[in-house]
Amino acid sequence: GIYLDHQASAPPSPTVLSAMMPFISGIYANPHSDDHAAGWAASDAVEAARAHVAGALGAETGEIVFTSGATEANNIAILGVAEAATDRRAIVVGAIDHKSVLAPARALGRRGFKVHIAPVDDDGAIDLAVLGDLVNDDTLLVSIGAVNNEIGSVQRLADISRICRDAGALLHSDATQGLAWGAVDVEAAGVDFASVSAHKAGGPKGVGALFVSSTSADRIAPVIHGGDQENGLRPGTLPTPLCVGFGAACTDLPDEDGIERWREVTDHLLAGLRGAIPGLRLNGAPSPRHPGNLSVLLPDGDAAAVVARLQPRLAVSRGSACTSGTPEPSHVLRAIGLSAVEAERTIRLSTGPGTRIEEVERAVALIAAAVRAT
Ligand code: PLP
Repeated sequence: GIYLDHQASAPPSPTVLSAMMPFISGIYANPHSDDHAAGWAASDAVEAARAHVAGALGAETGEIVFTSGATEANNIAILGVAEAATDRRAIVVGAIDHKSVLAPARALGRRGFKVHIAPVDDDGAIDLAVLGDLVNDDTLLVSIGAVNNEIGSVQRLADISRICRDAGALLHSDATQGLAWGAVDVEAAGVDFASVSAHKAGGPKGVGALFVSSTSADRIAPVIHGGDQENGLRPGTLPTPLCVGFGAACTDLPDEDGIERWREVTDHLLAGLRGAIPGLRLNGAPSPRHPGNLSVLLPDGDAAAVVARLQPRLAVSRGSACTSGTPEPSHVLRAIGLSAVEAERTIRLSTGPGTRIEEVERAVALIAAAVRAT
């Protein structure tokens, strides 16, 4: 089948798989065992991987905390900053943020924190004027996703950072959907914390990272307790093969030409869909946008039925994989002004850097036929 669901999980490259293999089979020592050479070998591999992850984010190696993925990184960031808080009691999160950001913020709301939701415009961009009004000297943390997983919209983090700095608030960004196309630069973005996940960028599932700026490390405290791994912020034995695969994926990201080609394939897919399905609309702004993301609104019908009819020949998703188990319409699509019915007529297609023109042309034919048949 054709796979157009890279934003849910991207296929690991041969580079990633071959880097991981020795650590799955032979090098099994605990990377935190420092009494023997076997442990040192595992530790060296984890530290090399950490440097690659740091390199991909524009961070220092010591600023990378490995986690089990972006869900955990988001939780540690939001709950951990609250844990370390002394005075400020308000949190601001973005209206179209991932549930792994919204849910911990809501949990803090139940603990007495004030939680504000920063709205977006119809393109999915945070309204900076409203954000400016929401952030004040009681704001502990602002958490705004860098790139949206459903509609691919990209936030102006440097501007958001300025608003936070002026008020003395910390800034976290869920940058999970930026890593695959090298769109995460923690320095330029001016963030204190950022979350990423390996499997959205060609690495293995089950590993991710939280960037903790060296200047903000004293503003976050652990929320799970155990040993002193990962500076005590994320105790537990690191999964060596997963860390190594994550590091390899970070060295194997597409370059500028690769991203350009990727965007062209996605544009070709959109043009094909528009030609084959009169009345089809693109949700969110054409640009700036994730190079592989298309969120399209069908003129009528039901996306779930279309997606089901495409099985097993074509993998696409309705809304986002993370919310498709729940019955209510996507909060992201609702926030950019779609009705509940329109949200239910939306399909997300996500290409990867290796997706070929022939594949998207075949996908257009399959989708057009499925739409006609439903
Ligand atoms: N944040 C965003 C924007 C995502 O797209 C995802 C993907 O599901 C996550 C967080 C969760 O990532 P993980 O699967 O690593 O927990």
